[in-house]
This record gives sequence, structure tokens and C-alpha cells, in this order.
Amino acid sequence: MPPAIAPQEWAAAAALAVLTILVATYPFPPKIAPGRLGVTVLDVGQGDAIFAAFPDGRTMLIDGGGLPGSQWEGRFRAGTDVGEEAVSPFLWSLGLKRIDVVVLTHAHRDHLGGLFSVLANFHIEQLWVGRDVESSSYRALLAEARSRGASILHWTEGGMFAWDGVEGEILWPPDRGPVEAASNDDSLVLRISDGRERFLLAGDIQQQVEETLVADRAPLSADFLKVPHHGSRTSSTGAFLAAVAPRIAVISVGATNPFGHPSQSVVERYEQDEIQLFRTDRDGAVTVETDGRKVSASSYVRGELQ
Ligand SMILES: [Zn+2]
Repeated sequence: MPPAIAPQEWAAAAALAVLTILVATYPFPPKIAPGRLGVTVLDVGQGDAIFAAFPDGRTMLIDGGGLPGSQWEGRFRAGTDVGEEAVSPFLWSLGLKRIDVVVLTHAHRDHLGGLFSVLANFHIEQLWVGRDVESSSYRALLAEARSRGASILHWTEGGMFAWDGVEGEILWPPDRGPVEAASNDDSLVLRISDGRERFLLAGDIQQQVEETLVADRAPLSADFLKVPHHGSRTSSTGAFLAAVAPRIAVISVGATNPFGHPSQSVVERYEQDEIQLFRTDRDGAVTVETDGRKVSASSYVRGELQ
């Protein structure tokens, strides 16, 4: 005869069940300070994933990182899925269950790969993209987003949005229709401003696009710059940096990456201009935020700096 279960054990089991249901369903508010505009460049190794929190509580994730070998081959994968193991835990740590907008700057794996897990783990209202690309991973991402109820919005140069005093401008790419393959120079470039502080998120654009934006007198000036293309020597031209004139810049880059990013000459260019430069391979995640009066910058490794 099995041992009788003591009433205390029944009570403990019942309490645990109630607690489990409470934790799973209780609408804990997200831990995002209201009234602040902030950007966190996550440490996803070689790639980009940037989280933006808006003063009215809206949330945006720009790219989801993605490392080689993170694709499932049957029941196995060779590498790390940073969407599951870095981006999602960060968003969970903020108490988020939904993200208003996910932006894909361009359809390269180091920006797109991690977004499948983000789509699986969070309710996404909208997926923003630039030019359509005829690649299987891009098509798969859009199909996955649609199947989970997200609406797809295409943005091109000149697009604008305003969220409770914060304005966003799409500076690139131009509306030239779909392309065969993903390209750095088709990156969606986004500037966000609360009227005082401006954040420029430059994707992976390179010299040619930088020169076009400067020649077109695009509104590039910004206090914060997400350095284009992981600090590659093919980006961050002198004219572009002069037009942006940031005070703070972050290079999103993986340690010992095979591309030699960031270029030493590019790092020196930022240092010569006395721009406060962070890099995610050494500093970890970097957060820059403003309450409308002062700006603070902090990194996982260096702590708060101003
Ligand atoms: Zn990239």
C-alpha cells in the first residue's frame, strides 16, 4: 500500500500550483522607467541587437543578432542562438512579454538569425523592414511573423513616426523595390529624437551610402551613434562622422571575429574626435538614456560613466 500523503504535503502542493499559475499569468509591469528614452546595444557577439525604450512605454528591438551554426539541422544545431540565449533573457529581465516593434535593418544572418526566437518568445505587434529581399531566411522570417499575428510594415527614406513627443525618421534605404540578395548598403537607417537628444542607428551602411547621405544633407546629426557595420574600415568615413558629430558611439562587435572588426584606424578616428567610444566585445551591453534633461551612459563592464 502506498504511503498516505500528509495534509501538509497536499497544502504545499496546492500552494505551489497557485504560485505557478500566478507567476505564469500575473501581469507584472515591465521594469522600464517611464519618461525616459533609452537605447541598449546588447552584447550578441558578432552582430547587432539594439533595444529601445520610449518615454510612453513603447518598446522596439532593432535586429536580433545571429551567429554561424545557430540554425537547427533536424534536432541539432552547432552554434549558439543569441536570440534565445542573449536577446530574450535581456527582454525577460525587463519583465517584457511583448515588443511593440521589431526592426530588421537588413537580412544578413548577424542581424536576422536571432529574431526567430524573439518571435517565438514574445508577442510582436509589428515587424518593420526596408526593401524586400528574395532570400529564403528573409521570407521565412516574414512568414513566421505573419503566422504569429505581427503586421509587416515597409519603411524607406523619408518615413517618419511620432510617439508622444519622440520622433523617428527613416534616412535610408531609398524606395527602389525588391532586391535579389541582402546588402549592407540597403540597411534601414533610423534616427530617433526627443527634441533634445538624438540617437542614430546606422545598421551596416558603408562608405557609398555614408557619402550619399552627407551629399543629400540628410539629418544625420546625433548625440549617440550606433557605429555603422561593426566598426569596419569600409564605414565611418571622416565626412560622415563630421556630419553626425556624436558625443557617444558604440561598436557592436564580437571578440576575435574573422572580419577584423573593428578596424584600428576607425577606432582611432573616433578617439581623435574625442567621442566616448564603447565596444560590446570589451564593455558588454551598453545603455545610453535620457530623461529629457541629462544623458547617462553605462556599460555592463564599466558601469555608469556620466
Ligand atoms: Zn552586420
